[in-house]
Amino acid sequence: GGGAGTGGGSRFDLEKETELRFEVEAGERVQLELLSGLAEVFGSELNRNKKYTFGAGSKIAVFTWQGCSLSLSGKTEVAYVSKDTPMLLYLNTHAALEQMRRQAEKDNERGPRVMVVGPTDVGKSTVCRLLLNYAVRLGRRPTLVELDVGQSSVSVPGTMSALYIERPADVEEGFSVQAPLVFHFGSTSPGTNIKLYNKLTSCLAEVFSQRCEVNRKASVGGCIINTCGWVKGSGYQALVHCASAFQVDVVLVLDQERLYNELKRDLPHFVRVVLLPKSGGVVERSKDCRRETRDDKIREYFYGFRGTTFYPHAFDVRFSDVRIYKIGAPSIPDSCLPLGMSQDDTQLKLVPVSPGRDLTHHVLSVSCVEDDAEGGESRSRGILESPVCGFIVVTAVDTQAQVMTVLAPAPRPLPRHTLLIMDIRFIDLK
Ligand code: ADP
Repeated sequence: GGGAGTGGGSRFDLEKETELRFEVEAGERVQLELLSGLAEVFGSELNRNKKYTFGAGSKIAVFTWQGCSLSLSGKTEVAYVSKDTPMLLYLNTHAALEQMRRQAEKDNERGPRVMVVGPTDVGKSTVCRLLLNYAVRLGRRPTLVELDVGQSSVSVPGTMSALYIERPADVEEGFSVQAPLVFHFGSTSPGTNIKLYNKLTSCLAEVFSQRCEVNRKASVGGCIINTCGWVKGSGYQALVHCASAFQVDVVLVLDQERLYNELKRDLPHFVRVVLLPKSGGVVERSKDCRRETRDDKIREYFYGFRGTTFYPHAFDVRFSDVRIYKIGAPSIPDSCLPLGMSQDDTQLKLVPVSPGRDLTHHVLSVSCVEDDAEGGESRSRGILESPVCGFIVVTAVDTQAQVMTVLAPAPRPLPRHTLLIMDIRFIDLK
């Protein structure tokens, strides 16, 4: 437990294979320092005598394989040492994946494609980060595929993305997000448009497979797919779809035996389905807490993270200079559908939107699709399947003047003119 003060901080001496868990109080910051020994945060090694700062709401575990001394200063909600962690099982999982990469290298095959599943708050994202860190520390180049549209670790909420990992995650900021491949989904729950969700999963799988064909390191590194916590009904079907789209070799099921049994039953026999316990340290997050995390993620996109401050720009955009769409027409009963049209078509339909006051505060994705791309069906498919090059927030709409004011990461003009509306709002309080 906590002990003698070190420059105002509490000192913790950890035995090997134990972890210090702490949560940062609202409105507070906590500083962590490694005084001696070796320790890591979710697979990223700590440097000795460097102060790491964690902001309000952070929930952190500092694990040591060898034993260490730590100093913690600032207001924590809880801070305790636990000997009871599943880290050894996670390390063994990593070792098995590394064995598969070695084999792939030898046989000129592709490396493991891993899907991490389980209900919310079981530590899925954390396990992904850990496995990616351990792989990249051995010189591998795995890809993180982020399918959690509610809590994306790569981009703003409402997106699905892939990130090629070339260095371990920064202890404070996570993985460096330099050139992610990001698709617009538009809401924080896959259930709002499951057809689109599955379609974009397939798009990501295709792009990843193409990359593997031309990049041997990416192929051997394989991928770690983080998924949503919705594991019933269509949510479950989406997991099965994802497994098949990515041709996953390994599924790690966190904490839920029923899900494990279902996937064992429904996935092809060559897929290894493994049940892993969740860590006792994983903290359940309330709805509010989740919303705050989403907000932080958007704020971070525009204003940067503590260390690197960005200065976003505000400017006017004329309605006539952009084309705004929402994906998915309202669903109508099957019996009312025009002949030859299915519900799929309505869910994947691009609906042009004329801007009104209700657009205020909405996050819009700027599609990478060429502005002069051909029209009609193939253009709308093009827009659906195009990655996005950035995001803006509508801060005001003037229907009289036919302009809207937007918050953007770069000065005007917008790089492209096809915009996709998200259900997600962001109120800029800066
Ligand atoms: P999921 O992806 O399943 O929703 P996360 O991986 O995001 O869950 O974990 C939920 C929260 O718990 C995160 O804030 C994470 O930092 C924290 N957490 C994970 N593992 C631990 C641990 N061993 N000790 C303390 N906090 C943890």
